[in-house]
Formats: sequence, structure tokens, C-alpha cells
Amino acid sequence: MASSSIPTSSSTADRIAQARRKIERACRIAGRDPASVVLTAVSKTQPDDQIEAALEAGQRVFGENRVQEAQSHWASRRATPGLELRLIGPLQTNKAVDAVALFDVIETLDREKLAHALAEAAQKQGVPPPKLLIQVNTGRESQKSGVEPEDLPALLGAARVLNLDVRGLMAIPPADQAAGPHFALLARLAARHGLKELSMGMSGDYETAIRFGATHVRLGTALFGARNAM
Ligand SMILES: *Cc1c(COP(=O)(O)O)cnc(C)c1O
Repeated sequence: MASSSIPTSSSTADRIAQARRKIERACRIAGRDPASVVLTAVSKTQPDDQIEAALEAGQRVFGENRVQEAQSHWASRRATPGLELRLIGPLQTNKAVDAVALFDVIETLDREKLAHALAEAAQKQGVPPPKLLIQVNTGRESQKSGVEPEDLPALLGAARVLNLDVRGLMAIPPADQAAGPHFALLARLAARHGLKELSMGMSGDYETAIRFGATHVRLGTALFGARNAM
């Protein structure tokens, strides 16, 4: 079972502690309250022992990319006190019901059709609409999901008509560009629309994201080591 490529439990705890220290330091440098930045542990593709190690280390906020994988990771652990599950991968409308049932927050609203599906899913289940972030394609990459910046106002308007609970914005900057300008754009858009949450920054650039106002940083490899290919 044991594989040398999988870090041990203690090293997962160490990495989480180290990431928390770096978040605190970045906050101090930026003159921000460390409590204003939430560490989301991205548990996609991770084996059970890594998830258990993170939970044992006190980590409670987790991000997942796929509904089905998230169900297999979390269905049996959903009752963990304080657990918050965030969907950070693209969502198909036919998975809206399952997503609403499992996740506390869906960060990847990016089209009106999905807004309708989420509103309908919540109504059907008799639950309040999920907390949402809108994913913005700040780099206008054709292969990346997310609403184009100029289409954000229309999507926000549609979500508000549906009484959806939009809390903020999320983005994944292009891999081949400096992330700072993308974080700055996302922060400007959020401020313009009165949105408080900013999910931005991954293992390679979360300290920069904190400088630009991130409230949620999404860390995978920094906490768990390299992922196996999905
Ligand atoms: C996988 C993933 C992450 C984590 O990336 P790392 O570079 O491993 O920290 C963050 N956000 C999203 C949307 C992801 O898909």
C-alpha cells in the first residue's frame, strides 16, 4: 500500500502548518488580518490517508473539482463538525442536484443556464440556494471556463433575479502569465459589484493573491505534494 511518492501523515500536517504560516506572513506584509484569508485544501485525486491526515491536522475547508469524486471522498465524512466543501471545478447542469446536495459553496457559476439549474435544484430539495462564486475567465482563454469579464454584470443580474446567493468571484489566471494583473482585475470586478469573497491563488502564487485581496486561497500540491494525473 505505502508508496514513496505519497507523503506521510506527519508531513501533510507539517505542510498545512507551513502554508498557514506563509499565509499569516503574507497577511502581515499586506497589512491584512490573517483571519481574513481562508485556506481551502484541494483534495482532488488524494487518497484517503491524505484526507484523514488533513482532517487530523484541523483542516476543515476543502475544495474538489468533480462532483462524483467529491462524493466518494466526502459522503462518509460529511458530518465532520465544521466541515466546509467547496466545488472548484466546472459543473454540468445535469450534476446540479448532486452538487447542491453535497457542497456548501459552488465557486464555478459561469453561465445563466447553470444559474437556473442550481436555483431549480435547491427548490426541488427544499434547501436554501447554495452560496456561489462566479468564475471569471480573466485571461479570456478559450479552453478555460468562466464568464468573460464584460459578461459578468448580465450573469450577476440573472443570478439575483433567481434569488441565488452570490458571495464573490473566483479565477484561475493563465498558467503562462504573471498572476498579479489577473488578481487585480478580479478584485476590481468584485469591488465594483459589492462582492466580498475572492477565491484566487494556488500553490504557486497564493502569497501574491493575498497581496491583491484574496479571501480564499486554494492549495493542492503545497499541502499534499504532487498529484497523480487525473
Ligand atoms: C487543482 C486546483 C487547485 C490547486 O492547485 P495547486 O497548484 O495544486 O495548488 C486550485 N484551484 C483549482 C480550480 C484547481 O483545479
